[in-house]
Amino acid sequence: MRITRFAATFGALTMALAVAACGGGDSESGSSGGASGIVGKATNDKKLVIGVKADQPGLGLQTGSTYTGFDIEIGKIIAKGLGVEESGIEWKTTVSANREPYIQQGQVDLVVATYTINDERKKVVNFGGPYFIAGQDLLVPVDSTITGPEALKGKKVCSVSGSTPAKRIQTDYKDAQLQQFDSYSKCVTALAGGQVDAVTTDDIILAGYAAQEQYAGKFKVVGKPFSEEPYGIGLKKDDSEGCNKINEILKAAAADGSYKKAWDDSLGKSGTAAPELDTTKLANCA
Ligand code: GLU
Repeated sequence: MRITRFAATFGALTMALAVAACGGGDSESGSSGGASGIVGKATNDKKLVIGVKADQPGLGLQTGSTYTGFDIEIGKIIAKGLGVEESGIEWKTTVSANREPYIQQGQVDLVVATYTINDERKKVVNFGGPYFIAGQDLLVPVDSTITGPEALKGKKVCSVSGSTPAKRIQTDYKDAQLQQFDSYSKCVTALAGGQVDAVTTDDIILAGYAAQEQYAGKFKVVGKPFSEEPYGIGLKKDDSEGCNKINEILKAAAADGSYKKAWDDSLGKSGTAAPELDTTKLANCA
């Protein structure tokens, strides 16, 4: 009882403090993102915490304490544009399901993690971008007869909880047996071990696994994408100023060649030419 009352009082106090913090000067609240906005934080602290994937080769991969991949390069471009040096970036591993809560609770300032912009997520976070458009596809053993999502009936297909591909299987391909893990590398291990028949997520992610040395000659990406997954940079919902700034930085990166360099230094190493960053689509800020 006492504990409960303490918790309630503490909760009320925290809320009062939060309200006070939000109300701290009208000019700083609302559309500018206030004191918690990334522009202010980057300017004042010269530091940013960026949430990225750690097990997606070519996109976000952690080796020791080092993170590499296209999302990492995009994160560096955004940080630089906000005046934060690489040494001021703290990379934080995220999985698909914790991206919104990490942003909402302030564990990260930004998320650059193969993060699809969609209306449901836009209810709770803001998105700069898109900086890339992927599509949902299937990774299967080379000798598999699965030719597309229609062929998944009765098959075991693996994806990640909290991801758009898992959701699409649940809603549009109900006859498939969906197995969910918290990261795609676990799905790929299950595919290699024969526990599942296919892995589904964005084509660009699947291509990264197929190209890994340990899986050489074992898997193929079906190659018929059945969704559009525009990748955005997630940030706090009320930080419109930060969001618009991210889009400005992306525009500049498209113009000065740094977007192309980010690609060439990561996914482009496999020989695929850099996509055009369509700056007319940079319009997702709430
Ligand atoms: N882009 C999709 C998503 O944001 C799938 C990739 C991922 O789970 O990170 O849900």
